[in-house]
Amino acid sequence: MPLNETHDASLRSWVASANTGASDFPIQNLPFAVLRRAGSTQAWRGGVAIGDQVLDLARVAESGVLGAEVQPALAAAAQSRLNGLMAMGPAAWSALRLALSRALREGAAAQAQLQDCLMPQADVEYTVPAQVGDYTDFYTSVHHATNVGKLFRPDNPLMENYKWVPIGYHGRASSLRVSGVDFHRPMGQLKGPDAAPALKPCARLDYELEMGIYTGAGNAWGESIPMDQAENHIFGLCLLNDWSARDIQAWEYQPLGPFLSKNFATSLSPWIVTLEALEPYRTAFTRPQGDPQPLPYLSSAANSERGALDVQLSVALETSRMRSEGQAAQQITHTSYRHAYWTMAQLVAHHSVNGCDLQPGDLLGTGTLSGPTATEAGALLELTEGGKKPVALANGESRTFLQDGDAIILRGWCEKPGAARIGFGECRATVLPARFAQPA
Ligand code: CA
Repeated sequence: MPLNETHDASLRSWVASANTGASDFPIQNLPFAVLRRAGSTQAWRGGVAIGDQVLDLARVAESGVLGAEVQPALAAAAQSRLNGLMAMGPAAWSALRLALSRALREGAAAQAQLQDCLMPQADVEYTVPAQVGDYTDFYTSVHHATNVGKLFRPDNPLMENYKWVPIGYHGRASSLRVSGVDFHRPMGQLKGPDAAPALKPCARLDYELEMGIYTGAGNAWGESIPMDQAENHIFGLCLLNDWSARDIQAWEYQPLGPFLSKNFATSLSPWIVTLEALEPYRTAFTRPQGDPQPLPYLSSAANSERGALDVQLSVALETSRMRSEGQAAQQITHTSYRHAYWTMAQLVAHHSVNGCDLQPGDLLGTGTLSGPTATEAGALLELTEGGKKPVALANGESRTFLQDGDAIILRGWCEKPGAARIGFGECRATVLPARFAQPA
């Protein structure tokens, strides 16, 4: 997908808040979400972010102002789930993006009609923007895999298959929640080194900094998606927090991998930034000297040239004390998606190589995106070296794992000279106390 007029860094919108240079949502971004007026029983419908406003796509569709050519895509984008839009493919997504970009530019004739279709983001609430049929979580950071491997298996940190196979497992779609939905600390079976297993509240609750990839059109069962087609099956990306119960995980994960330690809650940012919007931030996919090159079905010239994405990512922690004392959340990690060992296209090609059928609106998690240095770790498990070195906070508090009342806020953004800065908004949720519904 080449750069086009929608990426022009000099474009300005008649929505003034989009032009500050600091907004996550300038006219070059145009991400999609599903929303309604906060606290209402209105129907959920699609919207596009512009500055601090949302363009209500149900109202835009009614107006017909974008023209007949994009009306089918617009109608799909106005639904309560975006699966229909996702199924349409890159040509339809791109045509809708172009029409929205032209209609939102300074001087656009559509301004008078679209003005009435805006809602302040402060006044809306969001939901998970697709009916996610299946959720697969990968493990694409070799830094994370190595750091965690050292903790769980000091003698064998990185398994032999890691550099050949994009490792993943099937997650649970039912417990995906949109940013802002809080959740209770999970109960689970724990086993201390010298104690019998018992049902207890998780004592080593962690977050995982990830990106989520929403698939577009799927593949027929029995067929696979080749590398050179893989990105045509990706609609866009969001922020994803794969909440993880490390103590439950340690006891349950062998031999079949994570189960109840991961499937109690997964938080998603409401906004999906399209692959087209991210085009200025493509970077080369490379392998460290001495590592095996991917097998041919995981290789393509385009992937080597531009398969990775430079999305900057941060994690902030807000304790209940910070909240009550009016302190800002404290950033504890800053890294980039560009460090991932496997690209988005490789995940799609690998997932379907055996004939497994992907469907529109499936969600692929990247896995925890830790960068190469210790301060770029995407989980407390790594930052604290397995709970041995607490993270010191500026207000005198410290954390090994999350306490009740702690909120975790993920952010993502892209910026570089010559391109418009675009962002993902935030993905936030707060840990509530465990429910003691079950006898120990
Ligand atoms: Ca994960």
